[in-house]
Amino acid sequence: MIKKVLKPIQVKLIKKNLCPGCTMNLEKCNNLKDVTENKKIVQCKCSRIYIWDIDTNTYKRATLDEEQHFLTK
Ligand SMILES: [Zn+2]
Repeated sequence: MIKKVLKPIQVKLIKKNLCPGCTMNLEKCNNLKDVTENKKIVQCKCSRIYIWDIDTNTYKRATLDEEQHFLTK
């Protein structure tokens, strides 16, 4: 029930390039690593990790698998 209410808000925030966790502008995130030429892993101040798609300038939350895959290489 709570998830159903929260999720659309999080999606809305992330579409505005705001962190759903702390509402910070995701453009201010630290660059952690380049995944490809047009994709970077960025980390918010609240330690959430996102994948930034430069072509579309959109962010999405990295899954745990993605975090580990990209951060351990
Ligand atoms: Zn945050």
